[in-house]
Amino acid sequence: MGHVYDDQNIFAKILRGEIPNATVLETEHALAFRDIHPQAPTHVLVIPKGPYVCFDHFAQEASDAEIVDYVRAVGEVCRMEGVAEDGWRLIANAGMNGVQEVPHLHVHVLAGRNLGRMLS
Ligand code: 5GP
Repeated sequence: MGHVYDDQNIFAKILRGEIPNATVLETEHALAFRDIHPQAPTHVLVIPKGPYVCFDHFAQEASDAEIVDYVRAVGEVCRMEGVAEDGWRLIANAGMNGVQEVPHLHVHVLAGRNLGRMLS
């Protein structure tokens, strides 16, 4: 699968400051902000600042520093939101079958309610 990055996607616009966002955390290589249509009391999106379409693209192309910073940012969001004790769910949709709406890598951090079983 090719990874052609569309710099007009909505998260690219958020990163450029063209669209406002409710920032939870900003690090050197990552931005975390609240989802505009929250599916749970905590619904935060964590994105790398670099132009990566999906997890696979990021894993292939990002530097070690970007990957470390990004993974730490996801963990930090869980701590900051106070969900570590009761638990949370991470989701990263990719491509057509993953029903990815925005073509810039994002991990959903969902918590604050029982999220039910996703796989059975
Ligand atoms: P996907 O389906 O691509 O995994 O998820 C995209 C997510 O981005 C959705 O949960 C949607 O609510 C969220 N979203 C779409 N547009 C915006 C926006 O302009 N601002 C914010 N904060 N979230 C958005």
